[in-house]
Amino acid sequence: MNTDSRRDFLKLAAGSAAYWSAGGVISSAFAASNTSLVTLPLGDGLAVISGGGGNVLALRGPEGLLLVDGGTAARSKQVLAAALKATGTRKLHTLFNTHWHPDQTGLNAQAGSDGARIIAHENTRLWLTRKITTDWLPAGYGPLPAKALPNSSFYTHETLSFGDEAIDYGHLGQAHTDGDLFVHLRKSNVMAAGGLVSSVGWPVIDWQTGGWIGGLVGGIDRLLKAANDNTRIIPADGAAITRAHLQAQRDMYFTIFDRLVKLLVKGLGPDEVVAAKPAQEFEAQWGPSDEFVRTSFKSLWGHYAPDA
Ligand SMILES: [Zn+2]
Repeated sequence: MNTDSRRDFLKLAAGSAAYWSAGGVISSAFAASNTSLVTLPLGDGLAVISGGGGNVLALRGPEGLLLVDGGTAARSKQVLAAALKATGTRKLHTLFNTHWHPDQTGLNAQAGSDGARIIAHENTRLWLTRKITTDWLPAGYGPLPAKALPNSSFYTHETLSFGDEAIDYGHLGQAHTDGDLFVHLRKSNVMAAGGLVSSVGWPVIDWQTGGWIGGLVGGIDRLLKAANDNTRIIPADGAAITRAHLQAQRDMYFTIFDRLVKLLVKGLGPDEVVAAKPAQEFEAQWGPSDEFVRTSFKSLWGHYAPDA
């Protein structure tokens, strides 16, 4: 561990301890470590690996290692090695893809080659069968080779047992994309929330693959229903949060959503809506909002203005 990664780790550990005892929001140490991986133990055989793309949740079971997301392709080997080490396991058994994005699905090729089960929502599997080009990803991504595709897809809600852990996983509707899922480890009461949730800034609303701001609110409502006050919620980016913090995010997104719909009904275009600063009071905590507002506004078109 180099000096920078050690500093990140200590910040993370300190933030986490402060958070779980005091109920505040953890620091953004996860995002700071884009060049080195950070392992945060969450319990026996359970850890979060960050810095290799999106956050990766790792769980030990008698069959081997279970991961929720796998980081980017470039970092996936290191992510897997860190997860095996953190959990004391030897082989990847199950990999969840919370959605199709490159920060989450970079380990799929290796997982497929190793014979692992890859679980995803059916829409995520379909996106990964083709090349996807979006405004925020102009170079495109995919298609993944056949062996890298999810080999266990579902539509609504499923459960599975992994060792003594009872796992619920389910679709979050059209939110960040149209194939988002959450994974709730009920015994450990840890929930991987996928791309809807960030604790370090605005999430992407990937409206070109089915995400939209109204669905983001609805998806977070589903997470709120599945979580309780003691649930540790792991976002795609940033440190863990509680249900209370997630509720605050939900309320913020609803406020922005409501304003955007009103601006749409008035007939404003994207530049005018950005200029109206409908998320201004949240910028102190979440950073500049123009891009989030622009994509969120465009994400309304398919739902409120099909001819736009
Ligand atoms: Zn994403």
